[in-house]
Amino acid sequence: MDHIYDTIIIGGGPAGLSAGLYAARAKMDILVIERAEFGGQVATTNEIDNYPGSIENCTGATLSIRMKQQAEEFGTKFVSDEVSEVQLEGDIKVVKCMKGTYKAKTIIITTGAYPRLGGFKNELELRGKGISYCATCDADFFEDLDIVVLGGGDSAVSEAIYLTKFGKTVTVVHRRDELRAAKSLQEKAFNNPKMKFIWDTVVEEAKGEELLEGLVLKNIKTGETSDLKADGCFVFVGYLPISELFKGKINMTPRGDIITDEVMRTNIPGVYAAGDIREKLLRQVITAAADGAIAATHAEHYIEEKFN
Ligand code: NAP
Repeated sequence: MDHIYDTIIIGGGPAGLSAGLYAARAKMDILVIERAEFGGQVATTNEIDNYPGSIENCTGATLSIRMKQQAEEFGTKFVSDEVSEVQLEGDIKVVKCMKGTYKAKTIIITTGAYPRLGGFKNELELRGKGISYCATCDADFFEDLDIVVLGGGDSAVSEAIYLTKFGKTVTVVHRRDELRAAKSLQEKAFNNPKMKFIWDTVVEEAKGEELLEGLVLKNIKTGETSDLKADGCFVFVGYLPISELFKGKINMTPRGDIITDEVMRTNIPGVYAAGDIREKLLRQVITAAADGAIAATHAEHYIEEKFN
């Protein structure tokens, strides 16, 4: 007979790793499936300075490695595989992957989110040739060069601050005249001599043949367009949920965020969602980790009631 796990956690970011930790501590038989790097978005975030205790050079990569190690020490099993199909109905759930098929009494979906595109001309053509969505991955290509950061949220501003360690200049282009980012980040950014800001402006087009050379900007108040030299352009205009696999199978918002109650239950018994994949107000490492802990704890109660 096929092995039946208590819980399969799909996604190995902070929500999945924390669900793994809590489930393993409850002596559940669990498997975490991750298709890429464990840690999710946080693994490519440079500095984590708002996760309690993460002081003094706590990088996202370090935090993710520690989270995984801690879950592993309590018995969480991990597999690197890509999920291709899920069967969520019924008492036993089935997760089909590229390399194998797994079964479980409960599923915790922690697939997270991916960066939104800026939506300007030539963005995809120059992706990886000057246009990037990950400062930790690509910053050192732009040593002493002119960098533009698109967006005004926490990601844009914190990554722009990080990029000042590399670039000659870092110019934030934002569509409004005030930032959405946390005030503490704004203060750091405004006091950084390498940083400049262009307000009320969007990018219309990226210019360059082999590599990015510049951007065509448009002031949305005046309609005026202008050229800006740019060797690198980092796009941080928000994230979208990675929920394609679950479309039509589970209740979600029109954007694709999975809807849960406060104990992370979805509309399907035994199926939970935690972290950035779910509809929520605050998307942070701490809320993802908390969601994961709650989901795992509730999954344990569900199994006890249903199967014991
Ligand atoms: P976000 O908070 O949704 O901000 C997206 C930014 O991009 C906003 O400034 C938005 O402008 C702008 N934008 C959206 N669509 C655009 C478009 N088509 N063209 C130009 N600009 C556009 O996304 P985020 O900064 O990636 O953050 C995502 C979540 O992660 C948030 O909950 C955030 O708090 C969290 N996060 C936290 C930290 C931290 O605490 N250190 C770091 C990273 C991320 P408007 O402001 O005009 O809407």
